Amino acid sequence: MSLLRLLLVVVVLHLSAVAGDDAIVSRFQEYLRINTVQPNPEYYKAVDFIISQAKPLSLESQTIEFVKGKPLLLLKWVGSDPTLPAFLLNSHTDVVPFEDSKWTHHPLQAHMDHHGDIYARGSQDMKCVGMQYLEAIRKLQASGFKPLRSVYLSFVPDEEIGGHDGAEKFAESQLFKSLNIAIVLDEGLPSPTESYRVFYGERSPWWLVIKAKGPPGHGAKLYDNSAMENLLKSIESIRRFRASQFDLLKAGGIAEGDVVSVNMAFLKAGTPSPTGFVMNLQPSEAEAGFDIRVPPSVDAEALERRLVEEWAPAARNMSFELGQFKQKLTGKQFLTAADDSNPWWGLLENAVKEAGGRTSKPEIFPASTDARYFRKAGVPAFGFSPISNTPSLLHDHNEYLGKAEYLKGIEVYVSIIKAYASYESKSGSRDEL
Ligand SMILES: [Zn+2]
Repeated sequence: MSLLRLLLVVVVLHLSAVAGDDAIVSRFQEYLRINTVQPNPEYYKAVDFIISQAKPLSLESQTIEFVKGKPLLLLKWVGSDPTLPAFLLNSHTDVVPFEDSKWTHHPLQAHMDHHGDIYARGSQDMKCVGMQYLEAIRKLQASGFKPLRSVYLSFVPDEEIGGHDGAEKFAESQLFKSLNIAIVLDEGLPSPTESYRVFYGERSPWWLVIKAKGPPGHGAKLYDNSAMENLLKSIESIRRFRASQFDLLKAGGIAEGDVVSVNMAFLKAGTPSPTGFVMNLQPSEAEAGFDIRVPPSVDAEALERRLVEEWAPAARNMSFELGQFKQKLTGKQFLTAADDSNPWWGLLENAVKEAGGRTSKPEIFPASTDARYFRKAGVPAFGFSPISNTPSLLHDHNEYLGKAEYLKGIEVYVSIIKAYASYESKSGSRDEL
């Protein structure tokens, strides 16, 4: 081949790769532009779009509504050996609200700036991941790859409002059991460094409201056991505990997900008057709300004793409520082994390496994701979003993802899906785990 011809071939190959990348990015932008913002996500539009993407890949598809108006889309790439357990790639279709005036580009426009950064709500959390799964499958099919194990993809609603009508009902369903899933991949967090973050468990949210009651009295009188005094004693105690946890974190060597976080969400007290509050009256009731996040390694019973004895003791006319998230997901069963005992861990670590990436030490996710429902159902799950060298802007203004990072993430999933789908061992079936 003459030098000129060789050069021409290289140029043509390069141009077609660029055209391919452009098409990949515009498909991502198209998904980002679908308004799936809570509290009124256009779920059917998102589902229709994903189905249109799955069609050319000949994936089996079914839409399930555990709750009317909240469709969950399940796709399947059928493996050649039905005796092997399958694996599941999960992503949620909804996103959190935004204040568009605080954004450089409108969060539903998915504008790509001259650096190649795509600004949109969901660009990190987690429409990126949902589309990357599909793009990876597209690439694997183009390369002629055939999976041994079946690959399932779930696009679930409502994660941002607790996942109760989405992943929770799915993970508890007979349908989910029948899929025989050995491992689930769900969302992680972007990493500001070169290496990707992986999560093997998460803290469980305790939304605590403590209430104090006491005799009302004149604002000028000093007496014991007023509601305010009793509440303040509890708040002081809770603040000491918070400081002890924060000190551990500041001392370094442990991650955010390893300590209990405690933050006050509200304070409610006082007797309203037309001009504000009555000043010469000590009120008979006062309450405070806290967002508490408990790592699986923490002794939940000991923490609850502390709550009963120090933070809201009945002896001090206090009571408490643990709101919305009543499940205390503490204990070993909510941790997915990230060591040699779990073959899926080694496969993941290796596959990322083969794609030219690196995973950092596995962590406890500081907040909550749908992964907890799969773990609760007895299926191991890793939280992983292949986003490196990017600040974490989940739920923040100007959430963005760089085009190059997005494309690199697809190659990472190509490698992972290939490794998982080719894994021949029968171990990892639900019965054995
Ligand atoms: Zn998310």
